[in-house]
Amino acid sequence: MYNVINLPYSYHSLEPIIDEKTVNIHYNKHHKKYMENLNKLISYKMPLEEIPKRINEFPIMNRGEILYNAGGILNHNLYWQSLNEKSAAPSGKLLNKINETYGNLSNFKNEFIKKAQNLVGSGYTFLVTDHNSNLSIINMPNQETPLSYNLIPLFTIDLWEHAYYLKYQNNKNKYLENIWHKVNFNIASRTYNELF
Ligand code: MN
Repeated sequence: MYNVINLPYSYHSLEPIIDEKTVNIHYNKHHKKYMENLNKLISYKMPLEEIPKRINEFPIMNRGEILYNAGGILNHNLYWQSLNEKSAAPSGKLLNKINETYGNLSNFKNEFIKKAQNLVGSGYTFLVTDHNSNLSIINMPNQETPLSYNLIPLFTIDLWEHAYYLKYQNNKNKYLENIWHKVNFNIASRTYNELF
């Protein structure tokens, strides 16, 4: 059985930036639906993270659906881990690399938000690293995962309308500005610092 991560905080923890109802529906209805779909499609054969890299091992007629639902689980797992009641800036080697790549944290934030504003349709904006420790900010459509492109996702913001519509309606820019009060780079820093 594939599973989603436990939400690392309560439904109301991201208030007033993201309301309790949005987190509840997003986690219990949207996120878990990808898990239910994947478990109907395949039985557990390999770790979730390996599915995008080894998609060719599945029957060709199911690959699209398997990839979509595996991506839906993985991307949401990372999204929940990228937020917290208590915000935390990048640290250690990740902080050094962000400073080297973007000049400083404030520039990095602006670049990230600008990239997210430019995403058309549904998808995510990611901070990723390649296997040589180079950072990039990239957009992925729908439930595509950077793992399919041999990149390691470190941090992400969900930009599907269901992530913000109840509170922000069409105001995606306001969601993006506000969410920075709840971003947490502890997992991103740990992943990066362990890799390099
Ligand atoms: Mn979502």
